Amino acid sequence: MSVFAILRSWLDDFASLFFPRLCVCCGGGMNKAERDVCTDCLCSLPRTRMHEIEANLVEVRFFGRVDVSLATSFLFFEKDTVVQKLLHEIKYHDNPQLAVRLGLMFGTELKGGRFESVDVIVPVPLHEKRLKERGYNQSERIANGIAKALGKPVALNVLARTKGNETQTKKGAYERWENVRGIFSLMDAELVKGKHVLLVDDVLTTGATIEACVEALASAEASVSVATIATVQ
Ligand SMILES: [Zn+2]
Repeated sequence: MSVFAILRSWLDDFASLFFPRLCVCCGGGMNKAERDVCTDCLCSLPRTRMHEIEANLVEVRFFGRVDVSLATSFLFFEKDTVVQKLLHEIKYHDNPQLAVRLGLMFGTELKGGRFESVDVIVPVPLHEKRLKERGYNQSERIANGIAKALGKPVALNVLARTKGNETQTKKGAYERWENVRGIFSLMDAELVKGKHVLLVDDVLTTGATIEACVEALASAEASVSVATIATVQ
């Protein structure tokens, strides 16, 4: 270890006395090797393992609605859980790096399985105004992590969110669907034409956002699969 590395390690230890690094999920202290989430919380994440299963719970939700080839989510979402905290952290706490790391973990699980046939990864876009406020698109960062694990490219500027939708939280399923319908437009069909596209988002609730994206991609003659970090059950 160089003198500088030793010095840095001392400084890190010293700083952690005053600014302990806390797990975003449980609030407990973390060791130097841990980032954002402690090992205990990482190990207890409710993984769905649905990528291994044909006609899984996520795929079934799109049946008869839009044409989706494969679909899966990394984790099960429930309110007041570690997963909600993770999603909150990547969305509202200016933590794009955590989104990349979650994508990387997810992508590592997807490797070697059914999702290997994906050609290109497309994140669900944010509206420009929201992007300015947040400074980054969390779905794009998740896509970057998945892309790194799978060794596939990410294509931006395929879709654009042309309208900022109102908040979805107090709406019923049909209203949510009506709310997002037609808000995405296909910007550059050539980037995805005839390809197997993996559409990536942070969380799957009603599926309305994903459906609107799939509809926008339809004219590009692409086959579309879906991967989200979390899904409601
Ligand atoms: Zn923890």
